[in-house]
Amino acid sequence: MTSCAPGISSEDIDRQLGSGSFRLAFPPALERAFERETVDERTRMFVICGIIAVILYDIFLITDYVTLNDRFTEMVIARLGIFTPSLIVMMLVAHRFRSTHVRELLASMGGVLCVILPMTVMIFSQSPDRLSYQYGSLLAIMFSSIIQRLRFNYAALSLTAMLVIQMVTTALSGIFTRDTYIANALFFIIGSILLLMAAYFLERSERRSFLFNLRSRLLHDRLMQIARIDALTGLYNRRHLEESADALWHRTEAAPQVVTAILLDVDHFKAFNDAYGHTEGDACLRRVCEAVADVARTQSGLAFRYGGEEMLVLLPGKALHEARAVAEDIRRALRAAAIPHPILGNGRIVTASFGVAGVVAPQAPLSTLIEAADTALYAAKRAGRDCIWPPNGALAADDFAGFVAASA
Ligand code: GH3
Ligand code: MG
Ligand code: MG
Repeated sequence: MTSCAPGISSEDIDRQLGSGSFRLAFPPALERAFERETVDERTRMFVICGIIAVILYDIFLITDYVTLNDRFTEMVIARLGIFTPSLIVMMLVAHRFRSTHVRELLASMGGVLCVILPMTVMIFSQSPDRLSYQYGSLLAIMFSSIIQRLRFNYAALSLTAMLVIQMVTTALSGIFTRDTYIANALFFIIGSILLLMAAYFLERSERRSFLFNLRSRLLHDRLMQIARIDALTGLYNRRHLEESADALWHRTEAAPQVVTAILLDVDHFKAFNDAYGHTEGDACLRRVCEAVADVARTQSGLAFRYGGEEMLVLLPGKALHEARAVAEDIRRALRAAAIPHPILGNGRIVTASFGVAGVVAPQAPLSTLIEAADTALYAAKRAGRDCIWPPNGALAADDFAGFVAASA
């Protein structure tokens, strides 16, 4: 589950790619992602194609004047009075609603309108050149299927409608003998089938490139996730600490901010490993880190594995006394976890020592903050372990002057 495609895994995509399905539809979650990703680009394409189509369509007024002169007024009405405003309205509607079905339906209707208008006027013309009008239908069919790339279902619908209009109007116009009509109709039917095949293959390759593209983004997200997580504990690692701090310090350039940190170290952990083995030691570390992560999460803090059994919690915007309270919460959570450590004595449990410090970023860098927290942690160890340094009462609620110095 990642932000770039919620609810979809790279395994879902592999399955889809491996299925070799000829259907132009994905399972619902993938289909929704496909529509979401393509809707803006296709709406933009629809509008750009629409504008180009209107201009080209109206340029044919020159042809109308030359070859269909007896119906020129009707053609002007058809092109400038009906088609042009209709397409402008369709483009506005598609742009406004950004829905696949609305857009594809409008695009199909635009194609049908483009064919029906001149072909209908042509029926009433006596011009000997009126035969050439049917080639306009072929252009419209090509435009819909391979330029505008209507989704296959809509392409099938609108190409069929255009074909029927073409065949009915040429029959009514009486330009053909029966035999030439059949030959002409066959030419259009076969042409439409070929263009429909083109529409199918274009959509299929668009869908497959979407899958490949989405899969590489999901894998990239997963790799990035792995690269910033410590495998044993699930906390963020040192590498991500650098990245987060860079980003945080960069943000504070515009508005300086207090950043506090808790550095904690598991007490007597060597003894734990020596007594119960490394595997038990790992399990213990995981439980400690779970407690740290749970508390950090509720306090908008970021928890990192800083070293072997040392954890760092960054708390942007928290004052020292607030950071100290967070350390108290973690200490309490460790008590609640009650991980036995009997080698230290009967009933003893795993504890940790905490060093709390703060700086004002960006004036003081991360290294200063960590050094101060480390000094405080050392003081906590010297004070007997299982405690927080500086001790309670050593901090005034808003004592920012005590930063760094307070923890030394
Ligand atoms: P202190 O209370 O002073 O912190 O004593 P300590 O024994 O915890 O400190 P020390 O630095 O002597 O020992 C830390 C131990 O943590 C040594 C090392 O084997 C263990 N350790 C570090 N990383 C891991 C790990 O990933 N897994 C396990 N099982 N042990 C680890
Ligand atoms: Mg230790
Ligand atoms: Mg240590």
